[in-house]
Amino acid sequence: MALGKPMERDLFGHPVTRDDWRPGETGASSFPDFSRRQFLRLCGVSLCALSAAQYFGFPKASDAQIAKKGLIKTKLSPFFTPLEGGEIRCDLCPRSCRVPKGKRGLCRVRENRDGKYYSLVYGNPCAIHVDPIEKKPFFHVLPSTESFSLATVGCNLQCKFCQNWEISQASPEDIYNYDVPPELVISKAKETGARSIAYTYVEPTIFYEYMTDIGQLAKKAGLLNVCHSNGFINPEPLRNLCKMMNAANIDLKGFTETFYRDLCNGELSPVLESLKIYKQEKVHLELTNLVIPTKNDDLSVANEMCVWIKKELGPDTPIHFSRFYPLYRLRTLESTPVSTLTKLRSIALSAGLEYVYVGNVPGHEGEHTFCPKCKKRIIQRTGYMVGEVRLKGGKCGYCGKPIPGIWTPA
Ligand code: SF4
Repeated sequence: MALGKPMERDLFGHPVTRDDWRPGETGASSFPDFSRRQFLRLCGVSLCALSAAQYFGFPKASDAQIAKKGLIKTKLSPFFTPLEGGEIRCDLCPRSCRVPKGKRGLCRVRENRDGKYYSLVYGNPCAIHVDPIEKKPFFHVLPSTESFSLATVGCNLQCKFCQNWEISQASPEDIYNYDVPPELVISKAKETGARSIAYTYVEPTIFYEYMTDIGQLAKKAGLLNVCHSNGFINPEPLRNLCKMMNAANIDLKGFTETFYRDLCNGELSPVLESLKIYKQEKVHLELTNLVIPTKNDDLSVANEMCVWIKKELGPDTPIHFSRFYPLYRLRTLESTPVSTLTKLRSIALSAGLEYVYVGNVPGHEGEHTFCPKCKKRIIQRTGYMVGEVRLKGGKCGYCGKPIPGIWTPA
């Protein structure tokens, strides 16, 4: 595995979890670029991603590490089928792992114990931060609010460009985990003033039981539930999840089966099905497409994708074209040229999509929200910082057109 500069680590020695940004570190671009330090200063809030130690009162990071390493709690999975000889089939995601007794599925966090299938990460997140909701990214959900964000280890895909691979491709025993039952998540989220709980950083499907239990409590507490997901989940658990989920940002990582197979060890078609289900279930939906040079930056394929989105999900589905920075197993590639992102934005707008964003390029025009009717700018952004907002009751403050999203608290 090619390794370059060491990753940033938080108080616990964990890799700093991130969504889709590494501004200014690499890549040549004529676009006015920001160094990472400048960008963070500009955003102001990014490094206020407070670590769990602050929330849960560990006196020193080392105390928390010693106390929590290897902590594993179990919970019976509601989605598996017993097979002959004590084997089981996991029915949570389209991978449908067949797992013999004593073994785990590909996501590493589910284990067959005597013919029953268990989650091994219930109540044991490895990453907890308070992030601006714009970082998820959600641009149509309570702008300028903070989201109490968490993840456990594990993932059901194996993307070669994963930004959080040190936790997504780990087992529970490999990393320090916190002991945070759902009730404690809610009380700490309320204390921090967050307006939502975000299930993010890795694929939240793999900590499904934990997520849904937190979600029920969050609803009662008046907090929104939001997730950033790869959409690689089976229809039945997804429909159940939609009962509590207010908003989902789904990675549409590419638009060919080849891309999903070769770069993610996954499949595209189940993701497309999931997107339709989110729409049918009326969960607010945004999409993220991380644009990787030479891998998924073909403009004609991007056009096909946009046409599909408009037809199947609607023209008012926001999409974020996000800039790639070289990391993990794709370190030899260049960063995405800003010109490519600008072209993709034009293609998407020409295809009829109404809310098209450019991510990881602070200062780009594609960070703002424009009203598709009167074309005026209604939400101004730079990085994760929100400036002027011209919305009135969820409508354009100039012409009155309704703008899709969640604009008032739960
Ligand atoms: S959730 Fe995990 S164990 Fe279940 S099918 Fe998917 S990868 Fe396999």
